[in-house]
Parts: sequence; C-alpha cells; structure tokens
Amino acid sequence: MTVKKFAQIGIDSPLRRLFDYRIPDSISQLQPGCRVMIPFGKRSLVGIVVKLIDTPSIDPSRLKTIQTTLDDNAIFDAESFSLIRWAARYYQFPLGSALFSALPPALRKTKHDDNGASNEFRWQATNTPNETLKRAPKQASIYAWIQQHTNGVEPKQLKDQFPGSSAIIKTLGQRGMIEKVEIIQQPINPPELAKNSLQLTKEQSSVSNSILSLLNRFVVHLLEGVTGSGKTEVYFSIISEALKSAESQVLILVPEIGLTPQLYSRLEKHFGIDIGLLHSNITEKQRKQTWLKVSEGEIRIILGTRLAVFTPIPYLKLIVVDEEHDASLKQQEGFVYHARDVAIYRAKQLSIPVVLGSATPSFESIHNTKLEKFQHLQLNKRVHSDLMPKIQFADMRTERADTILSSPLCKAMHTHLQAGKQVILFLNRRGYAPALLCHDCGWIAKCVRCDANMTYHSNTNKLICHHCDSSKHKPDQCPQCASNNVIMVGHGTQRIEEVLSQQFPEYSAIRLDRDITRRKGALENILEEIHQFKRQIIIGTQILSKGHDFPNVSLVGILDIDYGIHSTDFRAMERSAQLLVQVAGRSGRRSTQGEVFVQTHTPDHPLLQTLLHHGYPAFATQALQSREEWKLPPYSHHIAIRARSQNNEDLFVFLEKVASAARQMLPSEISIQGPIVPSMEKKAGQYRAFILLVATKRALFSQSLDACLNHIETLVQARKVRWSIDVDPMDNF
Ligand code: ADP
Ligand code: ZN
Ligand code: ZN
Repeated sequence: MTVKKFAQIGIDSPLRRLFDYRIPDSISQLQPGCRVMIPFGKRSLVGIVVKLIDTPSIDPSRLKTIQTTLDDNAIFDAESFSLIRWAARYYQFPLGSALFSALPPALRKTKHDDNGASNEFRWQATNTPNETLKRAPKQASIYAWIQQHTNGVEPKQLKDQFPGSSAIIKTLGQRGMIEKVEIIQQPINPPELAKNSLQLTKEQSSVSNSILSLLNRFVVHLLEGVTGSGKTEVYFSIISEALKSAESQVLILVPEIGLTPQLYSRLEKHFGIDIGLLHSNITEKQRKQTWLKVSEGEIRIILGTRLAVFTPIPYLKLIVVDEEHDASLKQQEGFVYHARDVAIYRAKQLSIPVVLGSATPSFESIHNTKLEKFQHLQLNKRVHSDLMPKIQFADMRTERADTILSSPLCKAMHTHLQAGKQVILFLNRRGYAPALLCHDCGWIAKCVRCDANMTYHSNTNKLICHHCDSSKHKPDQCPQCASNNVIMVGHGTQRIEEVLSQQFPEYSAIRLDRDITRRKGALENILEEIHQFKRQIIIGTQILSKGHDFPNVSLVGILDIDYGIHSTDFRAMERSAQLLVQVAGRSGRRSTQGEVFVQTHTPDHPLLQTLLHHGYPAFATQALQSREEWKLPPYSHHIAIRARSQNNEDLFVFLEKVASAARQMLPSEISIQGPIVPSMEKKAGQYRAFILLVATKRALFSQSLDACLNHIETLVQARKVRWSIDVDPMDNF
C-alpha cells in the first residue's frame, strides 16, 4: 500500500528537474520505477515515478494529479534504477530523460499491451458478490466465467473466449471484481549447456582460470589478447562457469552487432540456449519483448550494444565488454554515456566481475592496469599460428605522387594471390573521390550545410556530404567558371575497386563499406562470399577492423595511415594505431605468417616506429608518457559543454556566459578553456563550439558543477542554442 501522497516524476524532457504530482486514492500501489500517465500542460504524458514523498516542493493545492499507472510493478528494478540514477548524475543528464533513454522505444509510449513479455499474470475473481453486476450483464457473464477458473485465466484465454471484451475486463479490474495474479516463474534450472567447447590452449586456460578464481566479487579484468588469440573462447569458458548456478545471467556488450554477426551465431551454437539480442537494428516489438524477458530473468545470455547496459537483469553475474577500446561504446547524442564505464560501475555495485577484452586496449584501461585498478591479463600467442603478421612500411615518398597502390604492395599482392590466398586492402574512406575541384578557377565542391568537401560517388554519379548526408548531382561543368576541367582529387574505396579491375582483372574484388552493408543481410552475404573464396580481394573501411576471422587472408595493405596521424585531435594517434593493429590482425590467422604493408609518407614517425618494432603495448606506454607530460586524459578529466546554433553570434554569446559562470562558480583548480571551435565549425547547418572544463582530480567537479549547470540552464541565452554536456568526451568537436 502506498502511504505517501505525492510522487516525484521524471519526464522525457531536456529540463534538469523532476515534477511533483499528487497520487490519487484510486492508485493503491505505486513504486519508484513505475510508469504513469500525467497531465502536463494541455497534454497527457508518460512519466516515470522517481520517488514517493510526503511533502511536495510547491503548494499542494497547485499540484496536478496522476491519471493512471501503466505498470503494476516497477518496470526498472531497484538495481537498474539506481544504476540509471547514478549515470544521470555522473553524465550530468536530466534523470527523467535518462530513464526514458534506457527504456526500449516501445515502452516509452502511451500505448502498451499488458502482456508484452509472456503471459506473466492471470486474472482471478476476487469473490465479490455477483449481485453487484446485476445491471451489467456482459460484465456479469465474463465475471462468472473467470470465477469458474479458480486458478485464474490468462489474458489470451479470455480474449479468445470473449473477443473484443478488453474494455469490459478493464472495468471489472477497476471495480476490483477481478485482479491480476502474477504467474510465478519456475526457477531457472542450471542450463543444459551444449558441450561443443574447444579444448582451451595453455595460455587461454591460464587466463580463464585466473578470472574464474575471482568470480563472485568485483574485479575488472582487462584481457589484452593479440588478434586471433582466441579471446572469444575465453569469454565462453567464463560464461559457462558463471551460468552454472540456477539463477544467473550474463551480459555481453559489443560495439556494433550489425558488423559482427559471427558472435551471435557462435554464442548460439556454443550454448544452445536463447540469446537475447538488444540493439537498435531490431524491430521495436522484438526489442521490447526481449527487454521484458531479460528483466524477468527468462533470458540468460544477453548480447547487446551500449544501450543494453541499462537493462534490468535481475540475476546478473558477469559482464563482458568486447572490443572495449571501440568508440562506438560511447553514446554521442542525447544521453551521452560510455557503456564500458557504466558496466564497470554496475559490476562494482553488484560485486561481480567484468571482463574487458581487446587486442588494442584503450589508453584509459591500460592506465588503470598501471594504477592496479584493473587486473591485467594477456594472451600473446595466436591459436592457429606461431607467428604474428610481419608489418612493413611502404614509403610513399619514393612513389609517384598519384600512386594508389605502391610497388612493394602490388608485388606482394601478386605473390599472395598466385599462392591462392586472399588480400585485404584497407582505406577508411568510402566513395570514389573525397574532393571535386575545378582545375581552372580552384572551385571545390563543398557542402552548403557543413564545413566539408563533398565526396564523389561513382555508382550514383552524385556528390554526397559524409557529415550530413545531403547530396546533389555532380555538375558537368564548373559552376563558377563553366570550365570542363573539373577533376577528382584523392581516392576512396570505389576508386580502389576500379583500379583493381584494371590492375588485377583476373581476380574478383569486393567492397566492404557502409554504402554496401547498409542493406539488411548484405554484410552476411559478402562475408559468406569471402569465406567461400568467391572473392579474392577485399577492399574495406573500418568495418574490417571489427574482429572478423578470415582464415585465408595472408596479406593486408593499409593504404593511407597518414590521415589520422596528422589530425589535431590528441586521440587520433591512439585510434590510428588501434585501427592499424586490428586491420593488420586480419592477416595470417592460420598456419602461414601474414604480411602487412602500411603506406605512409612519414615512416620515420617515432610512434609508428615503436608500434612497428615493439608492438602495441610499447606504443601505448610511450604515447601515454606524452599524455602525462601534457596533462591530457587519462591524466586529467575533461567535461565539454557543447552548443550549436544556426546563429554563430548567439552561440558565442551563450558560451562566453557559460565560461564566465564556470569561472565564478567552479573551484579555481578547474581550468576553463574556450569557446573552442572544432575543425569542422559548421555541421548540418549548425555552428558548433564548446567550453572545456579540465580538472586534475575528478572530485573537483562534484563540488559545484550541479549548481553551475543549473544556473546555465536559467540563462536567457540558453534558449537560443542547443546545448549539452559531454563528460569524458572522446572527440574534439
Ligand atoms: P580473437 O577474438 O582473439 O581475435 P577468436 O576468438 O576469434 O580470436 O579466435 C580465432 C579463431 O581461433 C576462431 O576461429 C576460434 O574458433 C579459434 N579458436 C579459439 N580458441 C581455440 C582453441 N582453443 N582451439 C581451437 N581453435 C580455437
Ligand atoms: Zn572553375
Ligand atoms: Zn554536409
């Protein structure tokens, strides 16, 4: 029974506050985490109860009253609810909005059929005298029928027996004539896990044992395993162990499921039980059903992208975060959070282990192993090959300026292809040419909405902006001087495809980039063709770095690494190195040693040299030293207050106000930088800039940041721009 008379409600709004409502007498049961319908302005909205209170913050006579509840039991259990509360605080996002972001879209809306997950309840008669229904014959007959079923009837039975009667059933419920009785789920039995595990190698079992020796308590294990070292098998062995107790569930987070279809089928095959998939590329209905089943404890293995981290998982015993370095684990729009970091917090609250896996761990995680906050485990050997691929530079300075495939790479390609092997060419640029230029007057095809060149796509003969997706037909003449001398500069994956058909006509090449894989099922088809050896050359973008296992690839060409090295973003080098190592790792995964050629104009770059000769861990150690010298993350903590607007002046007036508020209200040890203008100042028609708050200790933020942000929210200038907070930003824009 609810004794409190008022409730604090969160709604899906950018306002950094909750709203108080009166609880009507008709609602006898209300708990935090329940969804309710509330009047809001002239509308009716879904809200989520955050707290039950005795005294509202405003005069009770001015309070509105909750209309109805949508859930009998809280939709978030206490644990997931407190996780979201923590995340909303840590990432400085309005709690109401954070709660809504954590719900599957189908549960954010008003309409909701009660039996979404399964028949989780039955209707039972409350044995109120039948006479009450004398004047309602329809209600009476349904009531009588329910009464005959002493164990209650499931909603579906009722629907079949009395089609179109849902309103009447509702009325009976409201009158208290019938009530919902929860169907108690049978306790989950220890799984009949399929026994097709591989015999772990010595290295794998030693790593696996060391994690297993620390089950049932909070430990962050950083599993750094070279590409092809069999990390996935290690996850599987730990998961099997974690699932041995009757009530247990495991959460596996991956950057992008669409790009790694293999993991799902490997899990299914290995464990032989239902795998709950949670990501944004399934239908809303599927997502809702899986989410509800998971939260009922009915699904034991959950494989999801970052959004899955907030799912209520009542028997959670282990979290695995695969490819923990991958930037896709960070949500960049709206509720900005890092799923890896939320997972670590969650594991800590639950006193369970979390395993972070990667061949190229993030600098943050490496730093944490050095601080001994994380336990560092390494797999240094490949499962099927004694050797790691041999990486060499192809010095582009010795080639003609317009060279796309250097001579050492071409030579190696012929050798490997003739030996019946497959070749990967990596270029992180889709389209045909990244710029279209008038040779006579210097005109460049630019996007009108962004500070960016448009990319020419040959298949559609269009210019496309990769930042806002706007497109137009390629002009035949220069729009500025009418010259016909319009040329394409640079190359993307489509152009490589064309070059290959000229230089390697006897082999079949396939392109693997977002333009191709956008269609549903396309990626699976291409992967199948590669595995069946119908394609010998694979040209791809970063999709290739996502952990694919191509047994027959023995040569990888990385066509342009310079792009990332010369970026102004201090994280660019870390990312380029990760990409390089991950892509290189697709080579020679079976007996023969793989070869890798990295085309660059700066083969002498000290960090590249370290990476090449001493490997990723040495590279990371060296690069971390320079981060420390410059007091960059992870040696300092950043919060960006970003804003955008169509009006550049509004933007700057607002950000200047933000900066001065921050200077006044935050501790003096926090350095306040900006407004900083990103290299792409305008994107999709909006000017962008940000203020950067830098602190050497995270705790400095906890003192007065809330007050400062609440103040910023009240600024009149804040209404003219869109602004947001990015805690631990990963990008320099
Ligand atoms: P990683 O994720 O570390 O790059 P994978 O887990 O994909 O590596 O493993 C690479 C390949 O080796 C896969 O085909 C996998 O099935 C196989 N493999 C892993 N461990 C073993 C093992 N112990 N015995 C035989 N094959 C294994
Ligand atoms: Zn021109
Ligand atoms: Zn654009």
